[in-house]
Amino acid sequence: MASQEIEQLSQALARLPGLGPRSARRAVLWLVKNRSQALPDLLEALDMVSQRLVECSICGNVDTSDPCGICADPKRDAKSLCVVEDVADVWALDRARLFQGRYHVLGGKLSALDGIGPEDLNIAALMTRVEDGALDEVVLAMNATLEGQTTAHYLAERLEPHKLRITQLAHGLPVGGELDYLDEGTLAQALRARRPVE
Ligand SMILES: [Zn+2]
Repeated sequence: MASQEIEQLSQALARLPGLGPRSARRAVLWLVKNRSQALPDLLEALDMVSQRLVECSICGNVDTSDPCGICADPKRDAKSLCVVEDVADVWALDRARLFQGRYHVLGGKLSALDGIGPEDLNIAALMTRVEDGALDEVVLAMNATLEGQTTAHYLAERLEPHKLRITQLAHGLPVGGELDYLDEGTLAQALRARRPVE
């Protein structure tokens, strides 16, 4: 029977995506065995996440500063904006190091099933950025899922009246594919071959 403290940590870890109760207990055991080497780094990293991470008020990315490092970087192409569903997609695309513009995080996708409509996503802020008029291109980098593509079509319609090139990722992306799970080569290829939204 594990002590109450160990049980508490196991339960906290089991709430993480991809970690069930069994793998959480294995992680706890590993942490206990390696606490002198592994814990200081982990505690410091968790403390940083807890104390310093903020949501960028421009794009919705998560970083240690607001505006985030990407929005604040003067070397980024201010005319090109890549719209994604989640923060993890910004990180995935930026790991591929192919897109030189800036990002906009919707914070989800349209879903009739889950009752998520346009007003539940970060779309008003996107339209404001578009209406500022500094953009030449908007890349709709939604996941290759039904809901992702529904969201892309909705956005393409909203963006249509503006004088913009509207593109989306070439879907050599596997159907049902989520950006965050793709290897960087596939992602880079999809971005390079992006095409106008039909
Ligand atoms: Zn930002």
